[in-house]
Amino acid sequence: MSSPEPSSDNPHRLPRTVVPRRYDLTLEPDLDAATFAGSEVVVVDVAEPTATVVLNAVDLEIDEATADVGGEHIVATAALDAEAERATLTFERPLPAGEAVLHLRFRGVLNDKLVGFYRSTFTDDAGVERVLATTQMEATDARRAFPCWDEPDAKAVFGVTLVVPDDLLAVSNAGEIGREPAGDGRVAVRFADTMPMSTYLVAFVVGPLAATDPVDVDGKPLRVIGPVGKEHLADFALEVGEFALRFFTDWFGIVYPGDKLDLVAIPDFAFGAMENLGCVTFRERYLLVDPATATQAELQAVVDVIAHEIAHMWFGDLVTMKWWNGIWLNEAFATFMEMTCTDAFRPEWSRWVDFGLSRSAAFDTDALGSTRPIEYPVVSPADADGMFDVLTYEKGASVVRMLEQYLGADRFREGIRGYMARHQYGNTETSDLWDALEAETGEPVRRIAESWIFQGGFPGIEVERADGDGLRLSQRRFRYGHADGDEQWSVPLVLGSRGDGGDGTPVPVLLEGASTTVADAGWPWVNANLGAHGFYRVRYAPDLLDGLLAHLGDLTPLERYTLVDDAWASVLAGDTEASGFLAMVERCADERDLSVWERITGGLTILDRLVDGDARDALHGRVAALVGPARAELGADAHAGDDDRTRTLRGVLLQTAALLGDDGAARERAAELLDRFLAHPPSVDPSLASPALAVCATLGDLATHERLADAFRSAVNPQDRQRLQLSLTRFRDAEALQRTLDLTLSGDVRTQDAPYLLGETLANRDNGERAWRFVAAHWDDIEGRFPANSLARLVGGIRSVRDRRLADEIAAFLAEHPIPQGDKQVRQHVERMGVTVALAEREAGRLTRALVS
Ligand SMILES: [Zn+2]
Repeated sequence: MSSPEPSSDNPHRLPRTVVPRRYDLTLEPDLDAATFAGSEVVVVDVAEPTATVVLNAVDLEIDEATADVGGEHIVATAALDAEAERATLTFERPLPAGEAVLHLRFRGVLNDKLVGFYRSTFTDDAGVERVLATTQMEATDARRAFPCWDEPDAKAVFGVTLVVPDDLLAVSNAGEIGREPAGDGRVAVRFADTMPMSTYLVAFVVGPLAATDPVDVDGKPLRVIGPVGKEHLADFALEVGEFALRFFTDWFGIVYPGDKLDLVAIPDFAFGAMENLGCVTFRERYLLVDPATATQAELQAVVDVIAHEIAHMWFGDLVTMKWWNGIWLNEAFATFMEMTCTDAFRPEWSRWVDFGLSRSAAFDTDALGSTRPIEYPVVSPADADGMFDVLTYEKGASVVRMLEQYLGADRFREGIRGYMARHQYGNTETSDLWDALEAETGEPVRRIAESWIFQGGFPGIEVERADGDGLRLSQRRFRYGHADGDEQWSVPLVLGSRGDGGDGTPVPVLLEGASTTVADAGWPWVNANLGAHGFYRVRYAPDLLDGLLAHLGDLTPLERYTLVDDAWASVLAGDTEASGFLAMVERCADERDLSVWERITGGLTILDRLVDGDARDALHGRVAALVGPARAELGADAHAGDDDRTRTLRGVLLQTAALLGDDGAARERAAELLDRFLAHPPSVDPSLASPALAVCATLGDLATHERLADAFRSAVNPQDRQRLQLSLTRFRDAEALQRTLDLTLSGDVRTQDAPYLLGETLANRDNGERAWRFVAAHWDDIEGRFPANSLARLVGGIRSVRDRRLADEIAAFLAEHPIPQGDKQVRQHVERMGVTVALAEREAGRLTRALVS
């Protein structure tokens, strides 16, 4: 699929008669007045004589526009079209073909919507509110900060100057090369030229910020920057940044393309982080962390996000998509590289096993009729906004991982290196990557990849013994609720058997077409997703499944995870009864892997929503029995020799025993841990503090709510703050939960966080309906107040709603209140809510009977 060409009639593409080569940009933000003034000198190439120049601008006033051509000075008038987000400069006589130099002066407002050039605030140690100005340009908000050719293939060099009060820190994409007094206690800070790059990567940040001393990473200075007063939380990010910069330099075989790298924490930030070349911006909790009090999951999130953004310095910044239809590959590949780097940084975290949970989230949306192809035609930039979802990041990365494992990691990397070297400083289509891999490996990579990318959904693979000899493998689209559709995929299957049945040698089979039969290698049992890297689900004939379950000890953790995950999906699809899932996981009492347990407890949490009374008591008894042996073996407290995942597992099991196992001792233990945590957070092992918070909040009353809310308001480090605010969404107590709802709109919770908290409250087992009433009643306020990209995620909480009457009401409300940026996601949430309702209607009765019979 190709992107709309500039010469086409697409009203969203600028004419290419005049294209920029370099911008010299000067910005003067006034933080108190929340405004800015700017000027730019743009060197452009004029292809044919023209009196009009069209570029992007929105919410800007253009006060002056002129051109210098061959010693002549030509004046223009500027007309703004707010809807098209364009400025048309009409010159008093035509610019001749060749080089011209444009001069523009403009003004704008530092907005509070977290896009373009915007304002963010924080309260410093002295309790004083401080203001900073920062940018978020992707996808198409550079045009809010300065008039520009705001399309990814209009790459240019940027020379930035920021005029700021001299007591503030100013950073941009490149290193500082000079500063001069600018009057009134201000200074003009000049930055070096960038490499040619897209406008969506431009960044400037100005404010009361503190930077670490630079660390020299092979000649490139690396710093971590954040609000003053948080310097002590920067060390871990520096260590990770240094590791990742070296890791990717080696992996891509290309020197880091910037002249320095700053990692900057921003108090108000709509996304997780943004890969501005040399000046990566982050949500605070993904950069600033105290390793002594953070959980393994919190540290891993920091490593993941830093690695992801640094991978983009090459994949995205150095080599860039031609148009927004390619945004998925940019994100999918960075997510894949993030896992690869985190796995190298902390092998003991088993990052690829943990990625199973992310892949499950992608499967869960991709099993819906309202899923979408990973890549689809993007006409307007707004079409691309819908791409920032689980299908782009998690499914995209899963497909890349499947390809990498099928082709072999070394051959895969060689193919990527060739692609990067060929296209550096340029722009590509996604097919360029498949062609590079095909050239390197000789495999039909483009054909395989395109079957996964241009159609939504994924295959379910049926495995059974063939008549006579061999195994019969067939594919049919996996869907919740329906089994229709004749889609097919080129499925890179890997078969094999380990232990007494086989030597674990992977047997690759490319399944194209409805089915195939492969020779049986004499396996008494077989795994049809060996290594568990495939983005497909497997359904085994009963005899083959029994064989697998009898050999759990010969499976890798990710293979066991996948087995449980496939079983749960088959419950949602209506192919397996809930009681069958319970019976299956009861065979996993010997399990000791964190991710497998997380998958098991995830399923049990849903079962717990389907039953009440005696049946619920019976379920709790069986859960307590299931987790008992593992809890006894791990003990109550962390041991010196525990690895990070074992510590985390202890906490997961504590929480499960207390909430799903009704275990009184576990509840008391959680209460005692909470008391200690609130008195002095570092006194509790972080892997136990988080579960203790979850348990006590779930079971707590108004007094507990007050304690947690107070601690939340005074929390200093971003992880404590996040944990505490999330715990507030868990209350079973209706009054307490109501207080949380009120808090989300009170200003105590940042607008970057509140939508996520509201989403969590919608998923509350006992108070989801109350939360929905609150959201519906305050919809106008919510829409006006929160970042546009967060509304569809807020609504994601409805996926847990199991009552048909409420579900119908929600669906009707959302039909009347569309979310323009997230219509696809909202449709998916509504359909997924229907899957939960159907599950409840199908299973509540028979699970109850199975439990109390
Ligand atoms: Zn990214």
